[in-house]
Amino acid sequence: MTESTQSSAVAVIGLGNMGGPMAANLVKAGHTVVGFDLSEAARGVAVEAGVSIAGSAADAVREADAVITMLPAGKHVLACYNGEDGVEGIIGAAKPGTLFIDSSTIDVSSSREAHEIARKAGHLSVDAPVSGGTVGASAGTLTFMAGGSDEALTRAEPLLTAMGKRTVHCGDAGAGQTAKMCNNLILAISMIGVSEAFVLAEKLGLDPQALFDVSSTATGQCWALTTNCPVPGPVPTSPANRDFSGGFASALMLKDLGLAMTAADETGAPTELGRAAAKMYEEYVGKHGGTLDFSSIITGIRDQVEGA
Ligand code: NAD
Repeated sequence: MTESTQSSAVAVIGLGNMGGPMAANLVKAGHTVVGFDLSEAARGVAVEAGVSIAGSAADAVREADAVITMLPAGKHVLACYNGEDGVEGIIGAAKPGTLFIDSSTIDVSSSREAHEIARKAGHLSVDAPVSGGTVGASAGTLTFMAGGSDEALTRAEPLLTAMGKRTVHCGDAGAGQTAKMCNNLILAISMIGVSEAFVLAEKLGLDPQALFDVSSTATGQCWALTTNCPVPGPVPTSPANRDFSGGFASALMLKDLGLAMTAADETGAPTELGRAAAKMYEEYVGKHGGTLDFSSIITGIRDQVEGA
């Protein structure tokens, strides 16, 4: 058996919209997967996919070679690692030398703290947040942005390969989270820029297709325009053609912008446009909810035009 096909005992903590299908793909790849989630519904779905459910997160990790966490935020990851309110932590419950992979999208400070907690307990650790959403999690086509030592990354690779199509090793502890957050900062700002241009063009009576034909092959070219175009028509597969359903939820973009603003506050990095973008998404999500694709920010911009 080659390393890439070797079967491991893997614990997955957090079996929600992302962690559930990721655990299912580990089962499909031949790994023995024990999981835990606070939600009974999430546990039920995971059982259907062949995941064994433990009585607690600590019980799930005791015999594991590797532990994957897929939790909402940094505070959940740290509470799960350390234990809280009489609940045993997973770092202490695992065998020495266990590999910890945190795929949650969390703030860089918490991510670095999680690495440090794992290191002090004699474990290896990787931060490996993902892009690709729930569709990529189900299809096993996620992209992982990974931070950690070469040794930890080498051990993580077969598991990441079972759940995704590409891993980029970004650097040391927290580098994966940093790369993901900075990429989404670019994405949020560029989507707002593209949306403002289309609304201005509308106001001036320019056909959106004409703007697209020029900008998609000129200096305004970017992913927000050519793949995820916020107006229906020019890119038939973009969420704008299906009333912004599917895609990358505005609430998750708002969350990622919040992480970027926290990091900017901590480091003193200037992010004037990022701050404006975060405010726009906050107002938009407050008014319209956070479920639609983030390109629906164009609706928030039209609201401003109409003074709504
Ligand atoms: P989710 O809410 O569906 O799942 C999180 C799960 O964690 C829930 O089932 C919850 O019950 C469980 N949980 C919370 N605390 C726990 C604990 N202490 N022990 C065990 N289980 C616990 O969220 P999701 O959509 O799966 O997202 C997970 C992470 O992935 C988030 O950090 C999110 O930002 C990131 N992410 C999500 C997407 C997406 O499209 N959904 C895309 C990229 C990244």
